[in-house]
Amino acid sequence: MPTEELRQDAEQYLMNTYARLPISIVRGHGSHVYDLEGREYLDFVSGIAVNALGYTHPDLVAAIQKQARQLLHASNLYYTEPQVKLAQALVQRSFARKAFFCNSGAEANEAAIKLARRYAHLKYGPDRYEIITMLQSFHGRTMATLSATGQETIQTGYEPLVPGFTYVPFNDLSAVEQKMTSKTAAVMLELVQSEGGVHVIQPSYLKDLRELCRQFDALLIVDEVQTGMGRTGTLFAYEHFGVQPDIMTLGKGLGGGMPIGACLATDEVAIMFTPGTHASTFGGNPLACAAALAVFRALVEGRVLEQSQRMGDYLAKGLQDLVGSLPIVKEVRGLGLLQGMELTIDGNPLVTDCLAWGLLVNCVMQRVLRFLPPLIITQREIDRLLEILPQVLSKRR
Ligand SMILES: *Cc1c(COP(=O)(O)O)cnc(C)c1O
Repeated sequence: MPTEELRQDAEQYLMNTYARLPISIVRGHGSHVYDLEGREYLDFVSGIAVNALGYTHPDLVAAIQKQARQLLHASNLYYTEPQVKLAQALVQRSFARKAFFCNSGAEANEAAIKLARRYAHLKYGPDRYEIITMLQSFHGRTMATLSATGQETIQTGYEPLVPGFTYVPFNDLSAVEQKMTSKTAAVMLELVQSEGGVHVIQPSYLKDLRELCRQFDALLIVDEVQTGMGRTGTLFAYEHFGVQPDIMTLGKGLGGGMPIGACLATDEVAIMFTPGTHASTFGGNPLACAAALAVFRALVEGRVLEQSQRMGDYLAKGLQDLVGSLPIVKEVRGLGLLQGMELTIDGNPLVTDCLAWGLLVNCVMQRVLRFLPPLIITQREIDRLLEILPQVLSKRR
């Protein structure tokens, strides 16, 4: 079916929740995707930080094929090995001691919110339920997670919101101090606000926040749905800062393209969930967990994590070098392979310009071009990006 016909059918049959670019992606390989007409694109979006191993990674494909031949799904009424193995792998490489699996980032955050409320409720009573979150944050599109999200545009029209969330500016400790009371159950935040325009947390702020939470026994929840699984050069972004959270959520890159989310916690917190208090039909599904386990192994044992770290440094430096020479580039910010370039103009037309050059990038908060390549990206592929970008950026003002 030609792209134009597909576009018309999409308009007829799909709810209008996305402004799509006029290409239809049919397959991918490595860090490239191919459209219906056979055109090749270098991918610096990777399904919004999902396709961590790029496309058709042999270990991931083999793991999915093997599991599909054996067992796609079994209820959580029974034990399945991929789920337990994945939990063990994540626990052994993190601060956490227990995992709960679900199917998306929003669901992982729902689990985190419920777990924090339950911890506070069981330990301190029903008046302790408030969660402090950040302005410009993004935690998902379910009712609780959009209520946690500190962006009006995401909340408008969905009122009444889930009560119990209060918002503070990012990187502002005194704002948190002012809101921290005996009602506070948790503070929830991203370590890089990616959807919010690629803003990196200040290390000293995170350290002080950790200490403040400890004083009040408020749980520190880090949303690593986007920053987790090697995106920023360490397996989890909190490792950069020498600070450990009480709860961490994962999604996006965790399954390398298979839908899966996870909520991880310390033992002290995790024990608040008991049989019947939280659940998910598909959560921890053997197929998704087998895929996630293959991604984990490629990262940790297959050296993809090291590559992500090296290429993250290389990308950051390459983008930084463009600041100054191009008048519409205001600033470059980011951590590892999560980089944003703030422009003085609307970035959306530039996304279309890049498409014509065979390059996928996206734009957040109107003015921030965002770069989220697969973690297997090579130096040559980054060089290609750095060749195309100045040509695109110099033609707009
Ligand atoms: C994408 C994202 C989510 C939501 O994940 P979904 O899988 O779309 O529900 C939550 N938090 C952060 C930080 C994200 O980037």
